[in-house]
Order: sequence, then structure tokens, then C-alpha cells
Amino acid sequence: MEIKPQIKKAVFLMWILMVPAGLWFTYKIAPPQASGSWVDLLAFLLLTLVVAAMPIVINKMFVFLIQWVALATFLQFGLFVEIIFAQIAVIVLLIRLKVYEKGQLFRYPLNLYMFFIVSFISGVVYYALGGEVSPKLAGNHNAIWLAGLYALISYTLNQVIISLHLHFIYKEPFWGKDLFVETIATIITFPIGIVLYILYNQVGVLALVFVGGPFVSVSIFLNLYYLSQKANEYLQKAAEIGHQMAERLHVDDVVNLFIQKICKMMPVDYAYILEVKDEELKLVRRIEMGKTLSNDMRPLRKTEGISGLTWSNCKAYLFSNRKKWEQYTNGYIPEDAESILSVPIERSNNFIGVLVLASTQKRAYEKYQLRILDILCSYFAVAIENAKHYEQTKMQSERCSLTKLYNYRYFENLLTYEFEKLMQFERRKLSLIILDIDHFKTVNDTYGHQSGNEILFELAGRIKQLVGERGTVARYGGEEFVVLLPDFSKEKAYQLAEHIRQTIVKWPFTLQQSLDQINQQVDITVSIGVATAPEDAEDALALIRHADRALYVGAKRAGRNRVAEYSSC
Ligand code: GH3
Ligand code: MG
Ligand code: MG
Repeated sequence: MEIKPQIKKAVFLMWILMVPAGLWFTYKIAPPQASGSWVDLLAFLLLTLVVAAMPIVINKMFVFLIQWVALATFLQFGLFVEIIFAQIAVIVLLIRLKVYEKGQLFRYPLNLYMFFIVSFISGVVYYALGGEVSPKLAGNHNAIWLAGLYALISYTLNQVIISLHLHFIYKEPFWGKDLFVETIATIITFPIGIVLYILYNQVGVLALVFVGGPFVSVSIFLNLYYLSQKANEYLQKAAEIGHQMAERLHVDDVVNLFIQKICKMMPVDYAYILEVKDEELKLVRRIEMGKTLSNDMRPLRKTEGISGLTWSNCKAYLFSNRKKWEQYTNGYIPEDAESILSVPIERSNNFIGVLVLASTQKRAYEKYQLRILDILCSYFAVAIENAKHYEQTKMQSERCSLTKLYNYRYFENLLTYEFEKLMQFERRKLSLIILDIDHFKTVNDTYGHQSGNEILFELAGRIKQLVGERGTVARYGGEEFVVLLPDFSKEKAYQLAEHIRQTIVKWPFTLQQSLDQINQQVDITVSIGVATAPEDAEDALALIRHADRALYVGAKRAGRNRVAEYSSC
């Protein structure tokens, strides 16, 4: 949620007005106790920093358990030192939470201010109730109860202020689910604070090692456990995506699924997939801020950009901020990107492309994510290869290899499909044009079979261009072509057929490989038959038969180079 700039300014102002003055006031009413050396003070600060930098992850949520150190600090050195340490801890804590963005910086004064209020009020209440700050406390039972009360006030205030702030600034409900976890964790750690305090007064600074050591070790252990759990989760997700990609038959579908899943799985503001083609990297997918944009960008050479670097070294790269990759800026990466992941897409040691992900956040990606991406990219490479293979086989099975037009097998299926649509009244008309080159045998005999092929190839292209998106062109047999025209009346089909015939007559064909001379010009004419369902045919095959009949009876027999429709013969 976006916070209004006025609120952000007010927060900065409040901190500047309150905290220095509050510190001065605290210094006046409760000056720091000289109950420890400077070295001890620094040791406490160090422990504060370490604990603040090491949140424990419970239920996928960071829990910062700094209160017990703060409690011992307060009891030992007094409110003034506790406030300063707490302020430093807040800064460490926010850095740990990766609060770096410009628009989020107001969270520093906001949290500093909130922590100040908590420290200040609980400290003042403690003093008001007769609480003391001195090493004598250690053996005094009443004082321990008072310390407990201090911890309770401090904790309650903290929760109330956090809830109020979340409610009023972020409009969140008053009691979030984090409250329970944090309360339990605080109750558990309270005795650690007391033990630290008591032990420190007995054995000195070594107490910090005895108490802090196990606490920090447990934090590290829990975090490692959490990391491995997270990595496992990612691995599982990666395997699932791998399976899903393997099920997709088309290259486009595989690419879409891959990029979609990755954008969901990781913090991604920019995503690019590039493919090696003709010794260059060509963009095949570009997603910026959740939107798929055109791939209309210049290809990159092996030396260009981060993807070029990934290609030339065949190595994955992880950059945590802009400074680290700035020297390779000649790629596509936008101005505001910070973290970058660039992973090679390889298949049996063959480099086929690169995946580049970027985030506007610093340190957005971690090493294990790079490894997961690496696995995903190899799944992707296999899926792409399979899909390409499938598309190629499919194309070969339904196209004619000479003209690249659909073949008869494909056409027959399409005709049946379209005829069914007509029968179910989803189409009003279905027209079919069949075209045969006149005296093609003579062309072959005169210029050679190869030249005949050239004419067939060029003629196929011309017909396809003339028909455009309006219908489907197929090679019916030797020198015969068919055009299926959904929702074309007989009159419209006839007009189109006539247009095709005239265009062919008007433009002679140029042969590159003629037997006699280079660039030989050949005049060609065609005869065409037209039939339209439902008026001319009751089933799909009858439509072809009748168009064929129109071709032979109406056009060929009548002298060739003409169009005939079924009903007229
Ligand atoms: P018309 O249709 O006007 O009656 O005469 P035509 O000479 O075109 O008819 P016919 O059906 O007798 O001959 C068709 C010729 O088309 C025979 C064959 O050599 C040629 N042909 C068929 N397929 C191919 C091909 O793939 N390449 C080449 N070059 N010629 C082909
Ligand atoms: Mg012919
Ligand atoms: Mg023929």
C-alpha cells in the first residue's frame, strides 16, 4: 500500500522533534550508570547488533527477539543506554529486512520513533515504581519482579503501538496472527535476559558469551533449517513446473508457462528470454512490470550485455546491486534495476539461450534461487526441444515439402471440420475452389521437371497471397490446388477465383533454372472449378467432387483458362 507523502514527512519530523529531546531529558533524569567498563558496554552493544541481525524464522515469519538483551542492558546500564542501543538495533533490523527503497525510507524514523516511545515510557514507569538500576539487583527478589513488570509493560506497549501503527497507516486488522508467535517467543526469552543480567554481575563480560552464544547458535541453526526447507519447497515447485512444461506440445506454450511460473515464484520486475540464432542472441520473451512487451529489440552479440557475458562464459551470474553489473549495461536492462540473475539455457552442453531476471530491489535473489533456476532452465531446454520437434513433425505431416502449403491429408480433415460447422449452422456457406494448371505436362516437357517445380512453388505463393486470411490453400495433387473458403457465397468465391485466374495470366513466371536460358519467362494459365455448400453438396466429399466436376467439365472441356461453377454445368 502506498503511504501519503505528508504522512512520511510527518514521521521524519516527529522523530527529529521527539527523540533528541527525549534523550536529553532521559540523560537529565537518569544518567547512565557507571556500573561497567567501556569494554563491557561495547560487548553489550555487540550482542545487541548480533541478535538484531539474526531474526529467528518461525512459521515463515521473521521474529526479532531483541527484548531480552534490551532488558539486561536496561537493568545494567539504565534507560539512556537502552534507548540508544534500541535505536541502533532498529536500524540493523530494518537493514536485515531489506528496507532500502526510497519510498520505504520513512520506515526508519517511524520505527525509531515507536521504539523510542516504548523504551521511554516503560523506563519511566519502572523508575516511578521505585525500580533501580544497579548491580545490587541481582540478589533481590522484589527487584526481579519489578524487572518482569518492566518487561511486560515494554512488550505490551510495543505490541499496542505496532498494532495501532499497522492499523492506521497500513489499515491492517488490530490483532494479526504474528502476535501469538511473538508473545510466546518473548515469554520464552524473558528469563534469558534476567539470567544474562545476573550472570554478568557474577562473571562479568564472559556471561555474554555463555548466554549469547547458545542463543545465536540456535538462531543460526533454525535459519539454516528454514533455508533448507525453503530450498526444498523450491525444488519441489521446480519439479512440478518441469512436469507441466513437458506436457506442453507447442514452443510458445512452453515459453509462456516457464516465464509465468518464474515470475510467480521469485521477485521479478523484469524478465527476458533470449535465444541463440545466427551467432546472436535474439529476444523471444520480454516481461516488464508484469506486462508482456514486444520483442522488437535489436539482437545482442556475444560480447554485449549480461546475457552476452553469460553466453561467452557459459556461466550463471548473480548480481546483488547495480554497481556490480553497471559495466555491462549495453543490454536491455532498465535504469532502475538493481538485482540481476542471468542463467544459461543449455541442452547437452549446447548453449541455446539465456534467462535474465531483474528486480528493482537490492539483494533480491539468493544463491539457492540461482541453483533452482539452473535446474528449471535445463527442464526448459528439454521441453523446448521436444516442442520444436513436435511442431516440426506435425508440420512435415501436414504440409507439402515442395510448396510448403497444407497437403491433402490436412485439407481433408479441415474440410470435414468446416462441413460439420456448416451442418450445425455455425457457418452459413462453405465454398471450395479447385485449380489445375493448363497443359502443365508441356511446361515440364519444354523447360524440364525442375522448372515445373519452380512454377508450382511460385504459384502456391501467389495463390496464398491472393487468398490471405480469408481461406485455406492446400496442394490437392500434382499441379492441382484447392482453396477452402468458409462463409463465402458462390458469387464471392467465383469472383475470387476469377481474380486468381486473371492475376496468373497477367504475370508470367520467371524460371531461374531453365534448360535453355537464365530468367526464362513462362506464361501459364489455369482452369478453376467452384462449388458451394449447402446448395451444391450435402457432404464434404461431394463438395470436392462437384468442384472437380466444374473444373473438368465446365472449364477444361470448354477450352481451359476459365472459371466454372458447379450449378452451371
Ligand atoms: P490439362 O490439365 O490442361 O489437361 O493438361 P496437363 O498437362 O496439365 O494435365 P495432366 O494431368 O495430363 O498432366 C499433369 C502433369 O503435371 C503431369 C506431371 O508431369 C506434372 N506434375 C505433377 N506433379 C508435378 C510436380 O510435383 N512437379 C512437376 N514438375 N510436375 C508435376
Ligand atoms: Mg493440368
Ligand atoms: Mg491435373
